[in-house]
Amino acid sequence: MSGFPIEVATRIKTLPPYLFAAIDKMKQPKHHQYPSYEGMLSFRKAVADWYRRRFHVTLDPAHEVLTLIGSKEGIGHIPLAFVDPGDIVFVPSPGYPVYPVGTGFAGGVSHLMPLTKQNGFLPDLKAIPKDVAKNAKLMFLNSPNNPTSVIMSKDYFKRVVDFAQENHVIVCHDAAYSEIFYDGKPPASFMEVDGAKDVGIEFHSLSKTYNMTGWRIGFAVGHKQVLAGLGKVKSNLDSGCFQAIQEAGITALSLDDSVTDGLRKIYQERRDTLVPGLKQLGLEVDPPPAAFYVWVTVPKGYTSASFTAHLLEKAGIVTTPGNGFGAPGEGYIRMTVCTSKERLAEAVERIKRAGF
Ligand SMILES: *Cc1c(COP(=O)(O)O)cnc(C)c1O
Repeated sequence: MSGFPIEVATRIKTLPPYLFAAIDKMKQPKHHQYPSYEGMLSFRKAVADWYRRRFHVTLDPAHEVLTLIGSKEGIGHIPLAFVDPGDIVFVPSPGYPVYPVGTGFAGGVSHLMPLTKQNGFLPDLKAIPKDVAKNAKLMFLNSPNNPTSVIMSKDYFKRVVDFAQENHVIVCHDAAYSEIFYDGKPPASFMEVDGAKDVGIEFHSLSKTYNMTGWRIGFAVGHKQVLAGLGKVKSNLDSGCFQAIQEAGITALSLDDSVTDGLRKIYQERRDTLVPGLKQLGLEVDPPPAAFYVWVTVPKGYTSASFTAHLLEKAGIVTTPGNGFGAPGEGYIRMTVCTSKERLAEAVERIKRAGF
C-alpha cells in the first residue's frame, strides 16, 4: 500500500524553531567559553529591538543594556555598586525580599514604603520625610507588583522621575511581570516616561515572560553610568550568562506576540476561575490587572498566618502569608494562578468545604 504525502498546515511550516534553539547552540563549541560579563552584543541588540517594538523606547545596546544571570542577580547586586554603609534605600513593603536583603548586604538601611489599600498599593512619595530623602541613594519599585499585582501608570512614573531628580535618588524599577497582563491592557515601562533614563534603570526577566525560570537570564536597561556601576560589580563577581542561553534568549525576544498571547490567555482563564470562585465564597479580592498573583484579604477573625495555616490544614492548599513580604502585608494572603484551572476550581471547592 502506498501512502500519500503528508503535508503539515502552513502555520506549522512557518513556526520558528524556538524549541530547539538552545540545544542547537549548546552543541557549538564556541559557546563553551567564558562569556563577556556584559552579555553578547547580539543579545543586547535583541533586547533593544524588543524595547522598541513593545514600548517604543530607543536604547543603545552597547551602553544602555546589560545582560544579567536572572534579574534577581542584578537586583541583589545593585546596592553593592551604589550604597555605602548607612545610606538609605527605599523599599516597597510588602515586596520582593531581595530588595531589603540586597540593601542589607551592602550595609544600607531600608526605608520601607508601605503599600496599603488606602494608598492604592502605590508608594506614597509625599509621605517620605525630606531628611530621609536627602540621605537616600536608591529606590526600588516594582510594577506589575509582586505580591499585590498592582500596576503603576505613566503619570505615577512621572512623579517618580520628579522625586528622583529632586532628591538625587537612583530608581531601580523591577518590571519582571510586564508581559503577564490581562484584558489586553499591557503595562507601561518606566523607560517610557521622559527623564526616566536620566534617573534610573529597569530590570527585566525572561523567567516569567517565556517560562525560562531555571535558565537564569534577565537584563537591565537605562542609565549608562548606573549600568556601568552594576557591570563593575558583576565583572568582579561573575563571568556572565552562558552564551547558548543568551542565543535562546535572542530567539525568545524575537518571537511573535502570538506566543506570549497564548500564555496570557492561559493565565487569564485561571484568574477568571479563581477570583470569581473566591468572591462567591465571600472572600474580599480584586481581579489582578497583571502578574500571576491574587492578593486576598483574610476573613474576620484571622491573621495572615492563621488563615494560611487554616487553608493548609483544613483544605490542603498552600498559600503565602502576606506579612511574609513585609509587615504592611499583614491581613492578606497571596495565591497564584501557576497551576491549572481545574486545580484552581478544586481549590475553591475545598475552601468551601473547609469553611472559614
Ligand atoms: C521572579 C521575580 C524576579 C526574578 O526573576 P529572575 O528569575 O531572577 O529573572 C524579580 N522580581 C520579582 C518581583 C519577581 O517576582
